[in-house]
Amino acid sequence: MNVQTFVQPTPGSPIELADTSITAESPASLPSLLELSQPELAELVAQQGQPAFRARQLWEWIYKHYAADFDEMTNLPKTLRTALAATATVNPLSLVTQVVSAAGDTQKVLFRLPDGKTIEAVLMIYDKRRTLCISSQAGCGMGCTFCATALGGLGRNLTAGEIVAQVLYFARYLARPEAEPKMAIARPTAVTNIVLMGMGEPMHNYRNVWTALRRLTDADAFGLGARHITLSTVGLIPMIDRMADEGLQINLAVSLHAPNDKLRNQLVPINARYPVAELLAAVERYITKTNRRVTFEYALMAGINDSQPLALELATKLRALHCHVNVIPLNPVPDSPFQPTSDQETQRFVQTLNENGVPATVRIRRGIEINAGCGQLQRAMESA
Ligand code: SF4
Repeated sequence: MNVQTFVQPTPGSPIELADTSITAESPASLPSLLELSQPELAELVAQQGQPAFRARQLWEWIYKHYAADFDEMTNLPKTLRTALAATATVNPLSLVTQVVSAAGDTQKVLFRLPDGKTIEAVLMIYDKRRTLCISSQAGCGMGCTFCATALGGLGRNLTAGEIVAQVLYFARYLARPEAEPKMAIARPTAVTNIVLMGMGEPMHNYRNVWTALRRLTDADAFGLGARHITLSTVGLIPMIDRMADEGLQINLAVSLHAPNDKLRNQLVPINARYPVAELLAAVERYITKTNRRVTFEYALMAGINDSQPLALELATKLRALHCHVNVIPLNPVPDSPFQPTSDQETQRFVQTLNENGVPATVRIRRGIEINAGCGQLQRAMESA
């Protein structure tokens, strides 16, 4: 590939893309090297008349040292850095805002994409873990009725490079905690876990998500263990079957939120296409094939899906599966009819699942005051 003719790949998916024109305030859009595989990067460097080891140096600057700019790559010849900078960029994302929770343990970032659309990513700091929640699409077309991201619909799929770039941003930040916003970060100073639970439905952008996952888990690139990554889906059955054949030990999480079609159709509209019984059958196939435990996400909403009969119905349907249920107190969305269940009712719901043979725990809610729920910061910024 010639650096002069290098064109950013178009997002690959069956989804029709919305307007991707560049807005007036968006940065000049140069293609990002994060879209390239190692052989493609080698070809690019060879086109510059440079020896092969220069491509290796460039790759390591990006994936091992998290360089975001060619100027940082001090062992590359200035002529090569200048030539690359004229036609490409490393990082396709620009920072719009980064907010830190009062406790300092949650940071949410709003990034602008080259076409002006915005996406969110969240860093959650635990004792021994540094977990990133990243986005797979700008917006989302799944229309879940309780979700802030759904309100704006789908903008477009993220490219593989835009997905990887979110991780590299925080890897760089954790490795250099003196960077803004200043914050004391104890070890580990590396990304330890990634969850694809930000904006978008990862299975709806399957090809780009899996290109990104292979880059993130490749020991020669970012090199995070697949078992430390979780992909969350509302339940696109064909893609769950496809994931079972990928051969990477990425964790699967299914956002269920209701044990029957009548209720789930109201909360998760894609359920009309992939009903509960078929979804659970797909999960069973997945477990049989991979021998891996699956997580079900269940966001508790007061008076909607948190009753004891529903807890019992859920337990009955999940009991035979090798699974775990993450019960999530809903992050409240302003003006939404969906409000979080009380702590007491949440504990009762979890207890009923546990007493009826389904392992369940409450996921700690993080960053309410910084709009850490999916899609909330973006909406807050838009309405500010
Ligand atoms: S909950 Fe997830 S899948 Fe549903 S609309 Fe929001 S981002 Fe999309």
